[in-house]
Amino acid sequence: MPELPEVETVCRAMATHLVGRRVTDAWTDGLRLREVLSPTAVHSLVGERFEDARRRAKFLLFPLSSGRTLLVHLGMTGNLVFRSGANAEPSAHDHVLLGLDQGPPLVYADPRRFGLFQVLTATQLTRSKWLKSLGVEPLSTEFDADFLLTACQGRSRPIKSLLLDGHIVVGVGNIYASESLFAARIRPTTPAGRISRPRMARLVAEIKQVLQRSIDRGGTTINDYLGSGDGGRFQQELAVYGRAGEGCIVCDKPIANKVLSGRSTFYCTTCQH
Ligand SMILES: [Zn+2]
Repeated sequence: MPELPEVETVCRAMATHLVGRRVTDAWTDGLRLREVLSPTAVHSLVGERFEDARRRAKFLLFPLSSGRTLLVHLGMTGNLVFRSGANAEPSAHDHVLLGLDQGPPLVYADPRRFGLFQVLTATQLTRSKWLKSLGVEPLSTEFDADFLLTACQGRSRPIKSLLLDGHIVVGVGNIYASESLFAARIRPTTPAGRISRPRMARLVAEIKQVLQRSIDRGGTTINDYLGSGDGGRFQQELAVYGRAGEGCIVCDKPIANKVLSGRSTFYCTTCQH
């Protein structure tokens, strides 16, 4: 599943290659994604110019020349790619194809169809249920020790479950929560309200670092967003995630695996308290 770093990677690629391009042609199979994929809306993109590429949580926002915005979410298996290089072959999972005034066409592909591809007016964008009540961005200055301390105050919920709560902070997925808790030496099951200020400050710093490092490496999942073939290098650097039973990189004790709020959780019983 694309996590925040992968979405950020796609966003940056789109900022470089899509912004400034005008749509000359539009095709869709109209198959339902997480919500209806409107052929009328897709065809109405012809003539629009992409003015910008932004990310909010794991949503991609593309302001258009008409004042409308294209909202894209990659869901579980979605991808936004240019039809060239390694992605040159059309697939049965292509749901939208946009011809552009310059360069290869842009394709939205999504085998499991949990994504979103919507064209919204300014009002619809403001009212979008997807963008309402989103927590803070983890890489923003707003996300600091004070913020997390306040959010955790009096909470007996495990810290890891709280980090995965998108109403508090967005985009800290399972992998990043596990990795940053290991780096901060905090056990994932620790009641959130019991973590001291210095440890919280360390956790915040580790979350930012783990996300930033993953963005620098092009994300965690093996995915080839621009056909460059060097995506997903972060996966090779995981300390605990997916390493149940293997030796801890610090103390060599086997990494423990526990299901917490329905999510697989990896940690070291010696290094994390
Ligand atoms: Zn250890």
